Amino acid sequence: KYYEPLRVGFQSANSGGKIPLGLKSKSLRIVVTGGAGFVGSHLVDRLIARGDSVIVVDNFFTGRKENVMHYFKNPRFELIRHDVVEPLLLEVDQIYHLACPASPVHYKHNPVKTIKTNVVGTLNMLGLAKRVGARFLLTSTSEVYGDPLQHPQVETYWGNVNPIGVRSCYDEGKRTAETLTMDYHRGAGVEVRIARIFNTYGPRMCIDDGRVVSNFVAQALRKEPMTVYGDGKQTRSFQFVSDLVEGLMRLMEGEHVGPFNLGNPGEFTMLELAQVVQETIDPNARIEFRPNTEDDPHKRKPDITKAKDLLGWEPKISLRQGLPMMVSDFRQRVFGDHKEEGT
Ligand code: NAD
Ligand code: UDP
Ligand code: UDP
Repeated sequence: KYYEPLRVGFQSANSGGKIPLGLKSKSLRIVVTGGAGFVGSHLVDRLIARGDSVIVVDNFFTGRKENVMHYFKNPRFELIRHDVVEPLLLEVDQIYHLACPASPVHYKHNPVKTIKTNVVGTLNMLGLAKRVGARFLLTSTSEVYGDPLQHPQVETYWGNVNPIGVRSCYDEGKRTAETLTMDYHRGAGVEVRIARIFNTYGPRMCIDDGRVVSNFVAQALRKEPMTVYGDGKQTRSFQFVSDLVEGLMRLMEGEHVGPFNLGNPGEFTMLELAQVVQETIDPNARIEFRPNTEDDPHKRKPDITKAKDLLGWEPKISLRQGLPMMVSDFRQRVFGDHKEEGT
C-alpha cells in the first residue's frame, strides 16, 4: 500500500498556488504546523487518505508522536521537530498553520512564548508561503471576539478583548496573526485563508489539557467530580473534530479568504455539558464547583451563515453523537488498551 509511485507535484511554480475547486489532478505537498496535536493529526489523516504528501512541523509542546506514528513508514509522510518561531525552508504547495497551544492552561503557562508563536511563528510561515507561492491557511479562534457583546458572533463583529489580561497572549496573538495574514495577502499577494475555530473536541485531545470537555470526560471516567468553574452558566458551542477538519479543507480548496467561523451552533452551559457527560458515561458522576478563571467569556456561539453560503459547509455531528466517540478513545487511554473501566 505504501509503495505506490509518488505523484507529488510542486505546483506553486507554475500554478501560483492556485488549486481550482474540483480540478485537483496531482497530489500536493502540504505542511501542517502543529500536525502532531489534536486537530492537526486528524487533518493529517484526511490529507494522507486523499493522496497528498504531508510534512508535519511540530515542537511537541502539546503534541504527541503517538498522534501521527501510524504514518512513520509511509513515504508520503515526514515529521520535523521544529519550533515555528525559528525560520524554516521548505518547498510546498499549501501550508495549514495550526502550531499554537490551544488550551488556556497551556497557553497561559508561558504567555510570552504563546505570543511569539502566534506572531513570529505566523510571520515565518507567511514568509515561507510568499517565497514558494504556497497557499496559507491560519487557524484563528473564536477568542478573537473576546467576551462578546454580540450574540451569536458574526465574522463582521470586531470583538471585546482585554489587551492586558491573562488570556491576551492568545486572543491578541491570534488577532495579530490575522492582521499579518491579511497584510501578506494585500501587500505581497500571498493566497491566504482564515478560519475562526470555535471550541472543538474529540479523540486524541490531551487527557489533562485543562479544556472543559477533556476535563469532564477524564474526571467522569476516573470517578472524580467534574470541576465546574464559576456558576456553570457560561456557554460554549462544541464542535466535533471531523466537522472542523472538513471545514478547514473546504476553506483551503475554496476561493474565499474569510475569515470564516467554523463551529457548531449547538450552545450549552457548562452545567448542561456536565449533564450530557453524565448521560454518556456515568449518571452518578458528581459535580464540584470551583472559582472561575479571569476574563472567562460569558457566552460563545458561532453564526455560520457565511460558511454555509460560501463553503457549503455545516457541522453534522451533535454533542450527543460526538461525545461517545471521544469517550471510547479516552477510556482506552485512561485505563489502558485491554483493561475494563475501573480495573
Ligand atoms: P493542540 O495543543 O493539540 O495542538 C497544537 C500543536 O501545535 C501541538 O502539536 C503543539 O506541540 C504545536 N505547537 C505549539 N507551539 C508550537 C511551536 N512554537 N512550534 C511548533 N509547534 C508548536 O491544539 P489544537 O486543539 O489541535 O489546536 C490547533 C490549532 O487550532 C491552534 O492554532 C488553536 O489555536 C486552533 N484552535 C483550536 C480550537 C479547539 O477548540 N481545539 C479552538 C480555536 C482555535
Ligand atoms: N521565512 C522563513 N522561511 C522562508 C522564507 C521566510 O522562515 O522560506 C521567514 C524569514 O526568516 C522572515 C519571515 O519569514 O523572518 C518573513 O519573511 P519575509 O521574506 O516576508 O520578510 P523579510 O525576511 O524580508 O523580513
Ligand atoms: N471550564 C469548567 N471546568 C473545567 C474547565 C473549564 O467549567 O474543568 C469552563 C471554563 O471556565 C470556560 C469553559 O469551561 O467557561 C470553556 O473552557 P475551555 O478551557 O475548554 O475553553 P475556552 O473556551 O475558555 O477557551
